[in-house]
Amino acid sequence: MEVEIIASLTGLAGLAIGLATGLAVRVSERAQRTAVTANPVGSLPPGVASVLSVLRSSAVVVDSEDRVLRASSAARAYGLVSGDHLLVDEVLAMTRLVRRDGEIRETEIQVGPAGGRRRADGRWFAVRVAPLGSHGLVLVLAEDLTEMHRTEAIRRDFVANVSHELKTPVGALSLLAETVEGAADDPEAVRRFAGRMQYESVRLTNLVQDLMTLSRVQGDEPLPELTPIDLDEVMAEALERCQIKAVAKDIELAAGGEEGLQVRADQELLVTALRNLVDNAVAYSPEHTRVVVSTRRCDEWHVEINVTDQGIGIPDAEIERIFERFYRVDPARSRQTGGTGLGLAIVKHVTSKHGGEITVWSKEGHGSTFTIRLPLLDTPRRPAAGTTADPAPPNTAREATP
Ligand code: ADP
Repeated sequence: MEVEIIASLTGLAGLAIGLATGLAVRVSERAQRTAVTANPVGSLPPGVASVLSVLRSSAVVVDSEDRVLRASSAARAYGLVSGDHLLVDEVLAMTRLVRRDGEIRETEIQVGPAGGRRRADGRWFAVRVAPLGSHGLVLVLAEDLTEMHRTEAIRRDFVANVSHELKTPVGALSLLAETVEGAADDPEAVRRFAGRMQYESVRLTNLVQDLMTLSRVQGDEPLPELTPIDLDEVMAEALERCQIKAVAKDIELAAGGEEGLQVRADQELLVTALRNLVDNAVAYSPEHTRVVVSTRRCDEWHVEINVTDQGIGIPDAEIERIFERFYRVDPARSRQTGGTGLGLAIVKHVTSKHGGEITVWSKEGHGSTFTIRLPLLDTPRRPAAGTTADPAPPNTAREATP
């Protein structure tokens, strides 16, 4: 009897334990379900908010019901999030997959300014989606790749342009070499073709030289060794280098303005920039005209160098683009004058490397004035023009600012 009671008590106890365990498991399951679905808006696991605030990428946390719990201001500004919604369907679909299987996923997306829609001018993002804790939260990190895509496109364009520009003289040289070979018994023809070969090789040399100068000045690193430079010397040297072309077109080169102004500069680069402007002024002007280069202290801290011509001018619609690499208003004319299409791009970069800027005024059919504005090295004023030695090269006249 005792044994039976003990057996039934044991059985009851077993049942009770079984019932209690079953109940406990169900309560625990319900508790867990409640934790997944009842993530109150704005509640993140401890420490997550402070980690998100130091991340460089745009960050979004989405809860188990696709609501945005937290989004950085960049994510909202870029149109990834509005209110408590993820706006990009592709990213929303990824968050659901990640929530389901816990796998981290990555993709690249393009987002238009209005959010969601792809557009030619949209921004590019590298998106990484990962589970965040065990409550169905998902973290979306979006890194802005727009600048990288833009730089890559510019690089591709530049390489294509350089290849095209190199192909022309190289092709011409190879053709001329073949022609010379075929005309070996005609000395007059050989002389003519040799002259053309020389012209093409000068063009090639100029292009390579301009490319080297451009690569030196368009990077982010500052120029080494800027020293105090006398602008009179820069002007004299630039004018001298353009003298032959000016004489060939009977164009008078004149220098004017205040003497003795100094800037902190790399002299060779500044001469190159000014020479490019004077070269253009001569190239895009008719015969028997004038090109004037003058300096002017425009305020206590800045100096201007103006290059004024009476040439063909630049159409209003083109002015914005002339400083782009290889941009030419009239490609045939530029080629005819031996231009590389890089002159003004070099001027722009040299000027900005010296803390200055380049501007242009132009009227079609009347002429142009290019102005380089640079920070002035503080120097006392010198006597006016005429009382000091004239730094202008032969064949140029120094005169008062026009
Ligand atoms: P290029 O080697 O073709 O002269 P640049 O970069 O120096 O290249 O100039 C770009 C374009 O700007 C030129 O092709 C020309 O159309 C225009 N341009 C530059 N300077 C002048 C000027 N002084 N007058 C008229 N057009 C100019």
